[in-house]
Amino acid sequence: MSSKDLIITLPHPYLREKSRKVSTITDEVRKIIADMKAATLDWEANRPHEVGVALAAIQINQPYKIIAIRNNFDNKKDKTFSVFINPQIIKADGDASEDFEGCLSVKDIYGKVPRFSKVRMKALNESGQSVRVRAEGFLARVIQHEVDHLNGRLFVDYIKGQPDAFYKLAEDGKLISMDYEAVKKADLFR
Ligand code: ZN
Repeated sequence: MSSKDLIITLPHPYLREKSRKVSTITDEVRKIIADMKAATLDWEANRPHEVGVALAAIQINQPYKIIAIRNNFDNKKDKTFSVFINPQIIKADGDASEDFEGCLSVKDIYGKVPRFSKVRMKALNESGQSVRVRAEGFLARVIQHEVDHLNGRLFVDYIKGQPDAFYKLAEDGKLISMDYEAVKKADLFR
C-alpha cells in the first residue's frame, strides 16, 4: 500500500470525529508524523496543478491533534514541513476574506471559503517545545483549515447550500464553477 492510500476522504465518518490531545511524543507519534508527510507528498506526485499544502493526522485515520504544514507553498521541490502538535488558535481577527480552498480529503472539489485574515496559534513542535506562530493571508487560512480538521470540521461546511461557492479543476489547472447537483451527489455534508 502506498502512503497516499492512507488518506481518507468524505463521506468517511472519521473525518467528523474530534481528535485527541497528544500527551507525549512517542515513537508512535513520530511514525504518524512521518506517514502524514509521505502521504501528502505521494498525493501531489501525480498532480501537476496541485500542491499538498498541509495535512491533519485524522486524514490518515489517526485521531490525534497533529498538523503538518508545508514550509513553501509555491515550490513543490521544497518537501519540508512544519509540524504542530496540540495546536490552538488563540486569536483570530482581521477582515474575513474569501479565497479558494481544497482538501486532500475532499476529492476533486474546491470551494471559495471565508476565513479570518490573521491568526495566532500556539502549539508544540516536533521536539515537544512550545511555539507560537503569527500568520496572515494564505498561511492563516491553512492554519484555520487544519485546526478545523481536529474538531471534525471541513471547509465544505462553511459553504453548504451555496451553489456558487463550489469549483473543480479543469484540464489546464484552472478552477471552474461546479454544478451544484454534482456537489450534492458527492455526499460531503453531514
Ligand atoms: Zn483538509
